[in-house]
Amino acid sequence: MGLFGNIWCDPPWTLVESSVQAMKSIKPDVDFLLWTGDSVLHADVAKINHTFNGIILDNATELFKTTFPDTPVYASFGNHDSYPMDQFKPRNTALYNETLARWRTWIDDSSQDENFRKGGFYTVKTAKNIRIVALNTNIYYKDNKAVHAEGDPAGQFDWLTQTLEAARQKKEKVIITGHIAPGFQLNQETELYTHQNGRLVKILKQYYDVISAMHFGHEHADVLKLLRNGDGVPLIPVFLAPSVTPITLGPLHNPGIRLVKYDRVTGTHIDISQYYLDLHAANKAEIARWKLEYNTSGAYGLPDLSPEALDNLIDKMKDPASHEFKRYWKYYVVSPADEFIEDCDTLCHATVICGMTEFIQADFVNCFAEIIISLSVRVTYCMPLLGLSLSLSLFLFM
Ligand SMILES: [Zn+2]
Repeated sequence: MGLFGNIWCDPPWTLVESSVQAMKSIKPDVDFLLWTGDSVLHADVAKINHTFNGIILDNATELFKTTFPDTPVYASFGNHDSYPMDQFKPRNTALYNETLARWRTWIDDSSQDENFRKGGFYTVKTAKNIRIVALNTNIYYKDNKAVHAEGDPAGQFDWLTQTLEAARQKKEKVIITGHIAPGFQLNQETELYTHQNGRLVKILKQYYDVISAMHFGHEHADVLKLLRNGDGVPLIPVFLAPSVTPITLGPLHNPGIRLVKYDRVTGTHIDISQYYLDLHAANKAEIARWKLEYNTSGAYGLPDLSPEALDNLIDKMKDPASHEFKRYWKYYVVSPADEFIEDCDTLCHATVICGMTEFIQADFVNCFAEIIISLSVRVTYCMPLLGLSLSLSLFLFM
């Protein structure tokens, strides 16, 4: 194990501390921080317990408070933060009550106590008048057996609808944060129960005009998504930040942190600067040098991160040979050395593209079929140049 950890393990405290200190040195005077959860390690239930998890949550909370004493942190639970892991039952569990006390300085509004005690969700207004809506999407996680897979556990859907309706009436702009995003992962599955994934997406589409952007974690990868309506009109940008923990659930990846530039009036996101730690180099030198990996304006030439700008970018990425897609795939895994980057083949590319814009099973399947068919047509057209054996192998691919 290196000083800053390794890819098969959760981070030692040196890496956790280093990541928060790096955030401070990159920009100490931010408006707020988003902390998307999963502070507790990926461990066997038999090796941890509620008290142990509580100590980790205390330590992580304290680290943010001492490093950023004057900056609010809007935190959400991750599925690993409960004990037993993934189990989030509605109302008054010890986890909700104890964590409300932990995060009280940041959730400085007693009108949210009932929501938090009921389901670990809340809303607050930032000093710059942007409304933060922090969801507990772990409630809908497909491994959460403490609720029904349908219905509205803890009343979070009703609350979300009412909160977004009130924001619309007051002409507020909303940033939504949480741990597990709706939609599809690289394994072509949604992490949320099908019915609840669909209900969440429906509410978000209904209130797209007040939602500036959404931020999640969970997948340990740098993921871009874009919620669109049934006619393909882009509505809401969705960003999944890569994890600090190097433990891998899919392709090997480095630890990452990010800085988001946004318009304080409209809430529109303008640029994301993604920083990373080359874990191998840090362990070798025994010093952590967090570096800028990319920013969205420079890497993709984006004027901003509006739904329209992201729609154009995704259009370019539909070509797997485009430099936009090649960059995206490298950033997806947070830039490990080239020899460690696994190829994203045709199926992988179709999965990534459809995962960006499709959030419902039937839509995802249709998108996937369309991309594969259009690729086949394109290759068939080039067949005389490519030769028989290649065209045959691609035909088999269909
Ligand atoms: Zn998670």
